Amino acid sequence: MGFLEYAPAPESRSILQLKDSYGLFINGEFVEGRGGAFDTISPADESRIASLAIGSDEDVDAAVAAARQAHTKVWSKMSGRDRGKYLFRIARLVQERARELAVAESLDNGKPIRESRDVDVPLVAAWFFYYAGWADKLDHAGVGANPQSLGVAGQVIPWNFPLLMLAWKVAPALAAGNTVVLKPAETTSLTALIFAEILQQADLPAGVVNIVTGAGATGASLVRHPDINKVAFTGSTGVGRDIAKAVAGTGKSLTLELGGKAANIVFDDAPIDQAVEGIVNGIFFNQGHVCCAGSRLLVQESIHDEVIDRLKARLSTLRLGDPLDKNTDIGAINSASQLARIRELSDIGEAEGAERWTADCEIPEQGFWFAPTIFTGVETSHRIAREEVFGPVLSVLTFRTPDEAVAKANNTPYGLSAGIWSDKGSRILAVADRLRAGVVWANTFNRFDPSSPFGGYKESGYGREGGKQGLAAYLKGASA
Ligand code: NAD
Repeated sequence: MGFLEYAPAPESRSILQLKDSYGLFINGEFVEGRGGAFDTISPADESRIASLAIGSDEDVDAAVAAARQAHTKVWSKMSGRDRGKYLFRIARLVQERARELAVAESLDNGKPIRESRDVDVPLVAAWFFYYAGWADKLDHAGVGANPQSLGVAGQVIPWNFPLLMLAWKVAPALAAGNTVVLKPAETTSLTALIFAEILQQADLPAGVVNIVTGAGATGASLVRHPDINKVAFTGSTGVGRDIAKAVAGTGKSLTLELGGKAANIVFDDAPIDQAVEGIVNGIFFNQGHVCCAGSRLLVQESIHDEVIDRLKARLSTLRLGDPLDKNTDIGAINSASQLARIRELSDIGEAEGAERWTADCEIPEQGFWFAPTIFTGVETSHRIAREEVFGPVLSVLTFRTPDEAVAKANNTPYGLSAGIWSDKGSRILAVADRLRAGVVWANTFNRFDPSSPFGGYKESGYGREGGKQGLAAYLKGASA
């Protein structure tokens, strides 16, 4: 065994008590879907985990009807204090079942257990605790006295942070008095179904949250349903555009959280070792399947070689492999189709003239894997500098002056997040002011907190999630 090799330390799967097949969660019960079934698999070895139902138009209709009934008869009539009690109860149950949720998430999504255990699931609990606290304080949310819920929310989420995106959607909606029909992503619905069991355990009134699994067609049926009042979508810009068109003129309220191509800007006075950690966290966390990933590194020309050398040395120590192993840094790519897209864009990067470097890691024989990759010599016109790869691929560009850094950072159709690394506070503030990004991190990256609003500019979407701004998106008369 070499100096840096570790003995396997797999987390046990025995904590999971999975069913062989799952139905849809409608009106407080699991029911059979009418649109057929599909298997959810582990992206790490392509083994089958369970069979899931595909929600048909009729199923979506039944879920919306259950949500409507629950809104009119129960949830909108309940005091904020009582709604808060349910949310606190859900938060505590998430904590109690944290290990089980983390194992299920890593199994189904492919992300390292270290991340699902230490980041995703604790943030899920934090989101429910935070919004539980708001449920009886809506008068103080900054949207006027006695604000009213919108009604039924149709929510569609992606596969990169399955349970966390559920929490971002469900917690503020319920706190504000809405009821919900949620459609998880087709490759990662498992934790949403375990969450449905948690709702039963919490005795949440039937119909307040309904979970309808399936692919894009089920999502399309939900966002087009005439009896929902609010659509909240997180996913790709293409689908977001389609949804915006479908919702236009219907009177439904809409929030969109879409893609990103964040600039992570490193100035020559930055603490380099910290910046290297921040770059790694920025783009290799969650295999780069992060909408706000720091996928464009803008490094000041004078320190380019030093930063790249240290980055390569650091990447060479990352361990890729079994997502359930506690030593794993880089897990599996979520699906065969996502892997194909990452490969395609990386090949295009090479063909367009950027220089490709890939960490030397052993790739398991089965499953979907992509080793951490850096492209240097990237130009702003290259597709890998413009398009979202949504994988462990970093494009490196250089700049000479702060003005050039800002111009390059803003030269994107997206505007979700950005990072600045510098020892100088005044420079950080001056540059942050000029960046067209919803979130700007300084000397850190990928930090999330339920009290802090998150969302985009331009093609990254509109509306904010988190904080009291996140509540406004679910209240009448408030601009979200
Ligand atoms: P996607 O848009 O293909 O799918 C997202 C969800 O939408 C899935 O549940 C899918 O089934 C559903 N869907 C697909 N077609 C639909 C349609 N026509 N109508 C309604 N629903 C439909 O995106 P993806 O590949 O699952 O996720 C990756 C994308 O999500 C990336 O672009 C990423 O940047 C973005 N994302 C953004 C944020 C954010 O907060 N801004 C967070 C995570 C992911």
